Amino acid sequence: MFLRIAIDTPLRRLFDYREGEGPPAEPGMRVWAPFGRRRLIGVVIERVPESSQPPEKLRSASPPLDDTPALDAELLKLLRWAADYYHHPLGEVIASALPTALRMGAPLRATDLRWRITGRGPHAIDALPTRAARLRRLYAAIEAEGAITVSRANELIDGAAAALRALAARELIESFTPTQSVAPTTPAVTDGPPLNEAQRNAVASIGATFGSFASHLLHGVTGSGKTEVYMQLIAQALLRGEQALVLVPEIALTPQLLQRFTQRFGAGVTTVHSAMTDLERLEAWRAAREGAAPIVIGTRSAVFTPLARPGLIIVDEEHDASFKQQDGFRYSARDLAIMRAQRLNIPIVLGSATPALETLERAQRHPQWLSQLRERAGGARSPALTLVDLRVNSQTHGVSTPALLAIERRVQAGEQVMVFLNRRGYAPVLFCPKCGWSAHCTRCDAHLTAHARGAKLQCHHCGAQTPWLDVCQDCHAPAKPVGQGTERIEEFLAMQFPSAPLLRIDRDAIRRKGELEDALERVRNDEVRILVGTQMLTKGHDFPNVTLVVVLNADQGLFSTDFRAPERLAQTIVQVAGRAGRAERPGEVLIQTEYPDHPLLQLLLARGYEGFAAAALAEREQSAWPPYARLALLRAEGATLDAPMRFLQRAYALGEKRPQSLRLLGPAPAPMTRRAGRHRAQLLVHAPRPAPMHQFLSQWIAQLEALPETRRVRWSIDVDPLELF
Ligand code: ADP
Ligand code: ZN
Ligand code: ZN
Repeated sequence: MFLRIAIDTPLRRLFDYREGEGPPAEPGMRVWAPFGRRRLIGVVIERVPESSQPPEKLRSASPPLDDTPALDAELLKLLRWAADYYHHPLGEVIASALPTALRMGAPLRATDLRWRITGRGPHAIDALPTRAARLRRLYAAIEAEGAITVSRANELIDGAAAALRALAARELIESFTPTQSVAPTTPAVTDGPPLNEAQRNAVASIGATFGSFASHLLHGVTGSGKTEVYMQLIAQALLRGEQALVLVPEIALTPQLLQRFTQRFGAGVTTVHSAMTDLERLEAWRAAREGAAPIVIGTRSAVFTPLARPGLIIVDEEHDASFKQQDGFRYSARDLAIMRAQRLNIPIVLGSATPALETLERAQRHPQWLSQLRERAGGARSPALTLVDLRVNSQTHGVSTPALLAIERRVQAGEQVMVFLNRRGYAPVLFCPKCGWSAHCTRCDAHLTAHARGAKLQCHHCGAQTPWLDVCQDCHAPAKPVGQGTERIEEFLAMQFPSAPLLRIDRDAIRRKGELEDALERVRNDEVRILVGTQMLTKGHDFPNVTLVVVLNADQGLFSTDFRAPERLAQTIVQVAGRAGRAERPGEVLIQTEYPDHPLLQLLLARGYEGFAAAALAEREQSAWPPYARLALLRAEGATLDAPMRFLQRAYALGEKRPQSLRLLGPAPAPMTRRAGRHRAQLLVHAPRPAPMHQFLSQWIAQLEALPETRRVRWSIDVDPLELF
């Protein structure tokens, strides 16, 4: 028999091997496969009686590593579907779904025999003869990894079994069987507050679909109690003996959310995120797979967590862009979660105060699956939005006089103020007023951002850094920082309000684990008067004592060439605004703009996010953008612009015979052509419906792979791209 194996390579194909000795391999099982001069872990996709290649050319795979598939049939099917849909190599798709440790040969189950260092080991190791290099290497590996299995040892050295015995004979190591993982139990669930009517309706209507597929939208203003609804539904799933999978944008940025879940469900909560070690991830994965983890909360890649008894999927802040992977395997975890729920025949809940337009359009098609929470829970009123016209009001360092006066009033009244600016650093440009020079990144078509902390200039696109420059590099006149970042706003406000305790929250100020928790704690304890921050402020934290929010610059999104920019701007404004205020003290939101008459801002003010979204959807429909069309973006980059452009021109030519309804837009250099030293260009595929697009992409990509031009470029395809550059 032959095995068709998926291997973690960029090649868009499977690899045939002769089946190894031992028990027959099943789809989803792991095997070691010789690959070039290396040996890699592959996942069996099919076991077939014949290979298209001559058998003498095929190498043998190892027997299966485990006695059950690492990827069960459900997950394997989902991954195969995802590889087709995103036109990405299956081997890489599978690699992104498996914990690193499993891709390196760690045992599937926690209960397999392992070897560890004895108490005597560290003292006795030096007595080992120096020529026993293999034994020493193995010992060092066990020391480094804590404990290893026989199959891991096999991977490290030849004749591992004998070597393990030799080390054990010297009492340097010993074997043990890790304790059996906990049996699935229903965790103790603490009661939440009694739900209000809207919440009860949501729980009832979503709960009625347990055991069948339904793609719910829980559209609730910030603070309306969506998380309470999730938790009630999860409690119901647990009572049914089922597991719940919760996807969140960034766990590190939302410590409060996790805290609330653990308060409610105790040890029932298992988290999966990128800050975990390989071993922690593996253990969470195992617990979910074996059914010992009733609730799994994770970021994007957690959508691939195996579940023994799946019952409910929740995607919180479903509009968040971080659900879409922006490199490599460019999948949308939200969209895959919907697909997974459909295949599992279970309900999924997408929750947001500012749903993506795609999600709203879906809800229009399935109104029975829409639940709305229009009021804030606990009676807080939504804040009032006011525009500040920057054309008629003077400003200092980007803060208008009305905003400054409003801040002063609140600070004097002992209330909290939040100032939002989506740009970290001191100033976005370092400029010479004498000759017009400005500091650019040498590797990107971009300005360097001036940072006061560390006195450096930093490129926010490639990360390049240089020390701050005091003088122009052309004429040596003094150079000046121009424009504002959060650091500068912090400095300016500290000068204006010397006695008001100030706190800045952005990626520069909050870097270590725990720092965000500390900062949020200080805000809650009312130790802070003025908060200055970026997008980080919009992510799931409540600031009940904040009574004034100032959005310093709303204009970045108003005139962008990106058709998604208005949607993102509206979401940001609504999300920032929603963080403020509570019952006794409704919040006030000031939005500074040069374009107070802009229809987007007017709509948002007059009719809220829903009003904006209705208009934005109508506009998308008229101009045939998603969700009323499908897009795929072919990107290419090279050492010069010439190579990617030529590749894309060939691609365009190959696409001449496409179905009439498909349009190819471009090729064109990317808006920021040079990034990290690479020149980038793109070609957009626009289709009215998904099916013809995917048919076209399949045969087109096969042709692209054969082009000689591919040798001089790196190229990729992005299906349902979020960023068009
Ligand atoms: P969202 O997830 O929509 O932003 P939350 O679930 O975080 O809203 O609720 C906002 C606040 O209101 C939280 O402090 C929460 O404990 C509280 N809350 C939610 N539902 C209720 C309720 N039914 N009764 C009282 N307080 C509630
Ligand atoms: Zn100059
Ligand atoms: Zn750069």
